[in-house]
Amino acid sequence: MADGVRCWCQHCSRELEPSHTGECPYCGKSGKRCEAIALVGVGVVVSTKVKAKLKKEGKTVKEVTQRGHKKSHDTKSEHGAVDEISVVDREVFPPMWHQVVKDSRTGEVTHDEHVPLDQKRRNNRGN
Ligand SMILES: [Zn+2]
Repeated sequence: MADGVRCWCQHCSRELEPSHTGECPYCGKSGKRCEAIALVGVGVVVSTKVKAKLKKEGKTVKEVTQRGHKKSHDTKSEHGAVDEISVVDREVFPPMWHQVVKDSRTGEVTHDEHVPLDQKRRNNRGN
């Protein structure tokens, strides 16, 4: 289930199938870069949660979680609905945590966080 994840060769930047593993068919080098770009544009359905995992050599290297929220208590604003995309990226070192929250109507990014996964976990423990 790789819908919403797009991947490219790290060396020649040609697009690869998300399920592709091993050497690049174009330049013969191995190394793939993936992003959850397509998910960001998906229309919001209230209170949805979509999870996608990308596996490589049996290990989960990328976890993408998309959540749609609607803040029903926010009566004075028309902009209550948000799209939240969280990505755990273990293909890089150190593993990174990415989170982008967008207003689902305007597409405006209201929260944009990119921190090492370790740091994110430490913060969560503190709270
Ligand atoms: Zn290539």
